[in-house]
Amino acid sequence: MDNNSDPACFQHPPSPRERRHGPVGYSDYASYRPWLRDEFSYRCVYCLIREQWGRVSGEFDLDHFVPQTANPSLASEYDNLVYSCHSCNLRKGDDTIPDPLKALTSQTVKTNFDGTLVGLTPEAERAIRVLFLNTPDMIRWRRIWIRICELAAERDPDLYRQPFSYPDDIPDLQACRPTLNLRPEGLNQSAFFRREHGELPETYLF
Ligand SMILES: [Zn+2]
Repeated sequence: MDNNSDPACFQHPPSPRERRHGPVGYSDYASYRPWLRDEFSYRCVYCLIREQWGRVSGEFDLDHFVPQTANPSLASEYDNLVYSCHSCNLRKGDDTIPDPLKALTSQTVKTNFDGTLVGLTPEAERAIRVLFLNTPDMIRWRRIWIRICELAAERDPDLYRQPFSYPDDIPDLQACRPTLNLRPEGLNQSAFFRREHGELPETYLF
């Protein structure tokens, strides 16, 4: 594996990264869940754990990256919501962090093969610190996944595909029908649409 790039299982999306979807009008922010699952590729925007690595997708939360307490008017704003694992959401609490779509990208964070993260900008460093992403337990967790994926790549291609596959229950966003969708063109990029049209790859990196 190329040691100059990040490990396959911990690749941040490149920047600039724009949102694909723009649903508006749900009174209950939980209704944004299917959109956020697809938007963030079924992984935590902070630590990159995937739904497919756990047992139930209920371990994931919808996080307001500008806390509701700081700006209640953003509580149901799609663009202020990100898909986050429960642990990262708890660790972040009411801290304010930079927009993860800009602060946590392949240009701003390097993941070493020993599991450590390096923030390459002040915003990335701050996000890593506030979210406790470089604690010994997080580094150990990352190192184990990196090694498992390396071994599976060498010895068991079928096993290797599994951590990089899509969940079976990817949502049909066309059936969700928010009041308004500011980015309707994103529907054609959703995993469900691509699967329906035979365009969804078996595995993905980010
Ligand atoms: Zn997380």
